[in-house]
Amino acid sequence: MVKRKRTTKLTAAKVQTEFNRAIVRRDAACMVKDGGPCSIVDKDHPLQCSHFFPVGGNSGLRFYPYNAFAQCAGHHMSHHNRDPLFYSKWMQIHCPDELAWMESVRGIPVRYSQYVLSCIYESCKEDDLETVREIVRELFA
Ligand SMILES: [Zn+2]
Repeated sequence: MVKRKRTTKLTAAKVQTEFNRAIVRRDAACMVKDGGPCSIVDKDHPLQCSHFFPVGGNSGLRFYPYNAFAQCAGHHMSHHNRDPLFYSKWMQIHCPDELAWMESVRGIPVRYSQYVLSCIYESCKEDDLETVREIVRELFA
């Protein structure tokens, strides 16, 4: 039997999982709320990583640290299904320059090499989101 070659191909989905965890560790609380109370956050209902510009259609921003913030399940659901405006307002208040840059590149397709994916993956594991920010910005340079 031929020995199976060990490949460690990284998928964007696998890197996304690690990125999402790093965002939740960075924020450690529901950051973006509407007028309503937070839903329960506990072991069975963990904080979620919520993208401002959705991953679908904005693949270039899926790993951008200013495009994702922790939310409780309720406010995450609210962002996607009921009232997207409170997230927009929050972004305009908390990171207007980053929002303006993201507006300028959103929708531009980006190709991730294995090397870039592995750099993002390792940086997320080390909670080095500043490096992730620089990597993503370079993809559009
Ligand atoms: Zn909340």
